[in-house]
Amino acid sequence: MTVELISVGTEILLGNIVNTNAAYLAEKLAMLGLSCYHQSVVGDNEERLEDAIRLALDRSDIVILGGGLGPTKDDLTKEVTAKVFGRELQEDAHTRERIQEYFDRLQRKNPITENNWKQAMVPEGAVVVDNHNGTAPGLILEGENGKTAILLPGPPNEMIPMFDRDIAPYLNRLQPEGIYSKMVKVCSVGESRAETMVKDLMEQQSNPTLAPYAKTGEVHFRVTAKAADEESADALMQPMLEELSRRFGKNIYTMDENVTLEEAVILLLKEKGMTLTTAESCTGGLLAGQLMNVPGASAVYEEGYITYSNAAKEKLLGVKHETLEQYGAVSYETASEMAVGAAKAAGADAALSVTGIAGPDGGTKDKPVGLVYVGCCVNGRVRTEEFHFTGNRRKNRDYAVVRALTLLRE
Ligand code: ATP
Ligand code: MG
Repeated sequence: MTVELISVGTEILLGNIVNTNAAYLAEKLAMLGLSCYHQSVVGDNEERLEDAIRLALDRSDIVILGGGLGPTKDDLTKEVTAKVFGRELQEDAHTRERIQEYFDRLQRKNPITENNWKQAMVPEGAVVVDNHNGTAPGLILEGENGKTAILLPGPPNEMIPMFDRDIAPYLNRLQPEGIYSKMVKVCSVGESRAETMVKDLMEQQSNPTLAPYAKTGEVHFRVTAKAADEESADALMQPMLEELSRRFGKNIYTMDENVTLEEAVILLLKEKGMTLTTAESCTGGLLAGQLMNVPGASAVYEEGYITYSNAAKEKLLGVKHETLEQYGAVSYETASEMAVGAAKAAGADAALSVTGIAGPDGGTKDKPVGLVYVGCCVNGRVRTEEFHFTGNRRKNRDYAVVRALTLLRE
């Protein structure tokens, strides 16, 4: 079964907004096991939209259209799709009621304007999909020729929940077999090395399949199986998961799709009953902020330090003046003393420290931009590592955060 996407809106065409909806949908469709060979963007223009829909229906089984379902004149998706399918628009009483309720709930000062009722008009024979976050319903239009159009609202906060709640199950039902997948998340292994390590698995794959995704400082592997039910899918995936475990061992920090590296780190510390603090120079709180993204981080984290200047490193962390003079702020020695000092100052079992040259300025021949030292002190024992990142300022700081979290896990 092939699906294709048409994003409708002049603002997407002009680059005023980024087409995040298409990225979201494309990824979800792949996970559902549907083949998507084409995506297009078309402005709010009747003729070109009609051409785009006809072309898409010609070469794909299902066309998903996003945007242009609103109440204004430039919103044409429904009208043009109805025309292509040879259907009239007629008012849907249920949708009219929902729109009324939506406005009552908002208690808008302004009464509903006449054009809002345009959203209650649906092509005859269309399946109406309720919009729980707005007024324009989604629509599924099944043609006599076996071709289907699915119309979704443009705003992501309406489109995403609608897709997840109603459209994904609909698409899944069209498939004879379900698609099931598991995620294996790896840190401490570079992207190219990770790919090389699974090259043979990827070459001989059919069911399940294995796909690597590089994330800043991490590699995620998605294992996907086609099967009649979850149990048989699990059985199909098991040997692949075991093989990945064998190859990546401790570098796998989770097999749970929803768990992030910082969550895995906090969980690990919680299990061990340990507390953590951070001392950051070039990351300036980014590491602490990342840890604080985890609900319940307070169980392991009480306080931390942003010590950007040399004076602050001395005052708050007790880094020795001589160390800073002799080796400089960006050095193995300073990173180590920062970690030990932070653990002591906060009375924490573990401490992470980061000091480096994020760029774009400040690099020298000896200490180039991207040089970062990460220190990790656990129960008084320190381990410090040197890294050379090659990104821009933001990327280098992001990498430093991931490396710090990774070092603590090790
Ligand atoms: P509305 O009722 O808000 O007019 P609509 O279904 O007509 O909804 P559009 O008018 O096409 O949708 O888009 C409304 C807004 O939704 C856009 O201004 C934009 O912020 C967001 N949006 C639309 N399409 C996309 C997309 N493909 N990716 C990300 N955001 C989008
Ligand atoms: Mg609109």
